[in-house]
Amino acid sequence: MTDPQAEAVIDLDAFGANLAALSACAPSAAQMTVVKANAYGHGMVEMARAARAAGTDWLGVATLREALTLRAAGDTGDLLCWLAAPGADYAAAVEADVEVTASSVEQLAEILSAAPRRPRVQLKVDTGLSRNGALGQEWTALVAAAAQAQSGGRLEVTGVWSHFACADQPDHPANDAQEAVFVAAVDELLAAGIQPRVRHLSNSPATLTRPSAHFDLVRVGIAAYGIRPDPGMTYPTRLTPVLTLRGRLVQVKRLPAGAKVSYGQTWTAEHDTTVGLVPFGYGEGIPVSASNRAQVLTAGARVPLVGRVCMDQFVVDLGERSARRGDEVVLFGPGHDGEPTAEDWAVASGTIAYEVVTRLGDRIVRTYK
Ligand code: PLP
Repeated sequence: MTDPQAEAVIDLDAFGANLAALSACAPSAAQMTVVKANAYGHGMVEMARAARAAGTDWLGVATLREALTLRAAGDTGDLLCWLAAPGADYAAAVEADVEVTASSVEQLAEILSAAPRRPRVQLKVDTGLSRNGALGQEWTALVAAAAQAQSGGRLEVTGVWSHFACADQPDHPANDAQEAVFVAAVDELLAAGIQPRVRHLSNSPATLTRPSAHFDLVRVGIAAYGIRPDPGMTYPTRLTPVLTLRGRLVQVKRLPAGAKVSYGQTWTAEHDTTVGLVPFGYGEGIPVSASNRAQVLTAGARVPLVGRVCMDQFVVDLGERSARRGDEVVLFGPGHDGEPTAEDWAVASGTIAYEVVTRLGDRIVRTYK
């Protein structure tokens, strides 16, 4: 079903071009496209298919449920997931040929006891982000446990990996420090007789700026969707935003000077003006913090959101522009036709563009072209 009220148009050619550009930035490494969180709001199954069609080597997701959804949709390629609570269905993961991540000795034991046959496991070391991953002595213990299980034929260690904290700030000293810890952790693994197929550390910003951290595989998320990890930075390659969020004005009317708009009456018309009603609200994932701050493109111009964003709708001030019910309104897109970008919305909403796109919910009809 198409719904002219709330539509995300997703440009798969731009997505493929972004992936190719990112591959060119890391020519000696394989590529994993990260499609967790509904592919950052773009639609997981469709983007996964498009990534495979574009030649990506791996897909990466956070949860096992996401991984199994991809398998149920027919994906058969290399697939890693990295976040599992106790009781996760590792048996299903192994049956579906999904690679899982062990971040501690305890988690490795859970995987081994649940797996119906030899699981393929990647080991995660905490190099300084302090999220999941084994740290210090725990890493040494995890390596020893994995080496023992592998030599007993109960496990195949396929990878070793970690994640940067500050890769979006290329000069941040934490990057060198994390890379050094990673190299030492890999050496420990090799010394224990484990030769993993892939070593990986880089996300999008490190793929774009830090060749020394590319190792065997880079994991690209935000940049694949055409969004710069840091909008203030210039990167060595051009990325094109993939998603255009658009709909149609559902009402246009004149307001008299002094009229107040939306819940809390946080905006007052200074003059007689024309306003348009845009059928997107926080039910679609539009941040309330964009109230009175973001802009959209409609009636040939960028116009401001006025008043508070509601669950299903918000109001824009059209001034003296002529507009009609049914006119197109573009919330954000690549910016080629004067529309704001997701990065602009992030600035206006006091958040990051990752969140702007990832919030886009089920009420939005996604169209792929
Ligand atoms: N790798 C892991 C483990 C992640 O959690 C993420 C996303 O947060 C990525 C890679 C991709 O990061 P980015 O979107 O900055 O490329």
